[in-house]
Amino acid sequence: MNSKDSEIVVLPSGPVPVRWRRSKRARRVSLRIDASGGTVIVTLPCRASRALGMSLLLDHATWVKERLEALPHPILLRDGAEIPIHGETFRVRHMPCARSFTRLEAGELQVSGDVEFLPRRVRDFLALEAKRALVPQVATMAARLGMQPNRVTLKDTRTRWGSCSASGNLAFSWRLVMAPRFVQHYVVAHEVAHLREMNHGPTFWKLVEALSPQMQPAMAWLKQEGVRLLRVGCGVLLVLPG
Ligand SMILES: [Zn+2]
Repeated sequence: MNSKDSEIVVLPSGPVPVRWRRSKRARRVSLRIDASGGTVIVTLPCRASRALGMSLLLDHATWVKERLEALPHPILLRDGAEIPIHGETFRVRHMPCARSFTRLEAGELQVSGDVEFLPRRVRDFLALEAKRALVPQVATMAARLGMQPNRVTLKDTRTRWGSCSASGNLAFSWRLVMAPRFVQHYVVAHEVAHLREMNHGPTFWKLVEALSPQMQPAMAWLKQEGVRLLRVGCGVLLVLPG
């Protein structure tokens, strides 16, 4: 989801970017804030009119404004941007004339190549780094439980940090690579524990805590800071020629 396919709707509280979404599964009209795009998503069941969505927006105009204003500032992926990797801050440094690489060096995330590819190269680097960090942890923790995951994938999920399907496929948001390692560790433990316990009952939580003793602080961190990770690399970066 991206802010570029949103529409500006003028509410009494001010103009807000809105994305309209039709859903076959939705039973009623609903509103949700998309932190990564900085937009309001209005979900309409197939037969509901846009007018219904509009009236819900009007009823919640103040709530929408407050929620959007409370979002942390977006961090654009460009030269000079400061982004966290494993919880430490690195400054993005564009090196246009260098040979092809994206690497961490001396507190910098150095990126070569044309400036218009920089955001994509940073994202690709982070996704790869996430894979390198998380996949071995999945293997280790699953082995501790005597379980075997089916497939492990990294995605850009906006509403959850990880998931585990009934067939044992695990998925994680690559954005976790920006979180401190104890947070990554907890999310991996959470999803791996689902291989054994497909619920959120007391046995499940005991299992997670056994795998990841810093479960509580990690959950608190995600609640407090998680939204910041969604604000990295969002927004539209205009590259001017010359
Ligand atoms: Zn869960």
